[in-house]
Amino acid sequence: MEEKYQEVLSKIKEADSILIGASNGLAISEGYNIFAEDSSFLEHFGDFRKKYGFRSILQGAFYPYPSEEEKWAFFSRMYAYFLNNKEANPVTKNLYELVKDKNYFVVTSNTDSHFTLEGFQKERLFEIEGNSRYLQCSNGCHNRIYQGDEILSKMARNQKNGKVPSNLIPKCPECGGPMQVHVEVDRNFLKGEEWQTSFQAYKDFIENAYDKNLVLLELGVGARNQLIKAPFMNLTSLEENATYITLNKGELYIPDVIANKSIGIDGDITDVLEQLVLMK
Ligand SMILES: [Zn+2]
Repeated sequence: MEEKYQEVLSKIKEADSILIGASNGLAISEGYNIFAEDSSFLEHFGDFRKKYGFRSILQGAFYPYPSEEEKWAFFSRMYAYFLNNKEANPVTKNLYELVKDKNYFVVTSNTDSHFTLEGFQKERLFEIEGNSRYLQCSNGCHNRIYQGDEILSKMARNQKNGKVPSNLIPKCPECGGPMQVHVEVDRNFLKGEEWQTSFQAYKDFIENAYDKNLVLLELGVGARNQLIKAPFMNLTSLEENATYITLNKGELYIPDVIANKSIGIDGDITDVLEQLVLMK
């Protein structure tokens, strides 16, 4: 195993460009499993579970709340959970340690904001499905997204009996209509200017990596993932000097056609990254 780790480290060291792709598996290794009715969910969302019967954060995010007061009670709690929960382990921080001095770019479907929290530059990040600290108009009357930290923190602190005070509920500054977090939970999700800018930065990064030493570092992305994994595998096969490194616990998948350019590590991502940082 040590040999494999050395190989990963030397590939990272030699790389001109490092494209990082991350999905649920990374968040789960951090201790955030949005699919699970685990002890963390029961501790932080137990009151919602009791009131509505849903059994995971994901179900909560899709729940049709009867009122804005109740909707924001959930989404501000989710915000506080993702942003202020100090129980999380340093997996994303270790990832940053590995690549911080390199030319990197991150593409992720995680919406928990943990990349920027640990030091990754916003300009080098494409959050495909949004980020729970931003707000948008639910009517999509205009394209702007808004930093929601202040109001979300306030609502998280001031909720009672599953409701936030009506006077705290955010309203669209343009149409006065309801707002929602900028996370892809329904068809209202805005792919406006900021989303497009990040998407373009992702495409530009790939374009600029053409013919160079490119490392594609994939963390916790499911075997059938079309959003991140499929393009990564495709790029690996197209680019002569690409190396595909995939870290996954129990769901490692490397197609034969790129096997000679790939390194797979099946194990707990937390342990793997910690080891890599120690050996760096
Ligand atoms: Zn509006």
